[in-house]
Amino acid sequence: MSAAVHSPELVRLAELVSGSRSVVALTGAGISVPSGIPDFRSPGTGLWENVDPMEVAHIDAFVRDPAAFWGFYGQRFATLEGKRPNGAHRALVRMEQAGLLRAVITQNVDMLHRKAGTGDLIEVHGSIATCSCSACSHPAPLEVARERLLEAGDGVPRCERCGSPMRPDVVLFGEMLPRAALERAHDLCQEADLLLCIGSSLEVHPVASLPVVTLRAGGAVAIVTQGLTPLDDVATVRLDGDLEVVLPALADELGLAPLAADPAFDADRA
Ligand code: ZN
Repeated sequence: MSAAVHSPELVRLAELVSGSRSVVALTGAGISVPSGIPDFRSPGTGLWENVDPMEVAHIDAFVRDPAAFWGFYGQRFATLEGKRPNGAHRALVRMEQAGLLRAVITQNVDMLHRKAGTGDLIEVHGSIATCSCSACSHPAPLEVARERLLEAGDGVPRCERCGSPMRPDVVLFGEMLPRAALERAHDLCQEADLLLCIGSSLEVHPVASLPVVTLRAGGAVAIVTQGLTPLDDVATVRLDGDLEVVLPALADELGLAPLAADPAFDADRA
């Protein structure tokens, strides 16, 4: 048990959550780190170590050289394969199921909130769950796209309908965020009386502006992440520490039962 478990800040956060009508979580890469998925903004982390993500995962790179793009993205899929949600993802499910959390807005594309069982999930950067045709938008599930990638002679998975290169349904660098998801996220943050910011450095726009939406509407912001953020001074509660410890401790402090089963064991769920 970590010292975070009974810290005054944790107790204060639990009071804030239980005293709020509408709590919304905003999550970033930090929540997936305990699942073994490195945050590419941290230097020296595996797959991203020798590449500039803003170059290789850019829409211009896909258009210019889809084989090179897929050379990288295929590795990324392989890295994410088999990764499981951790106690932090599950703590948010516990809160949602108890009626203490309205929705989760995430910047992550790794499907771990889905696998954990989050019901109302807004994936503002898309998800690796599907790919779609870059020309006719015909979709394919991740597994199908991966098979086509493995079978492709030229390293490019192609649309079964028109033969054009497929792309992952994630927001690439140089692209706009999906409007509907962003509008829903904005509305949720406006209506939230508590926005729980988890595992995000709150530096990547436009998602970084969501806490400001909550604050301007009169709501409070709590920040649970390792390292500093630009909004630390305006947060009502600020918790550092291991998310895999802190969030389950929060759910415990709220008196919530553990999940009956780990839905991640259902391989078909995602
Ligand atoms: Zn097509």
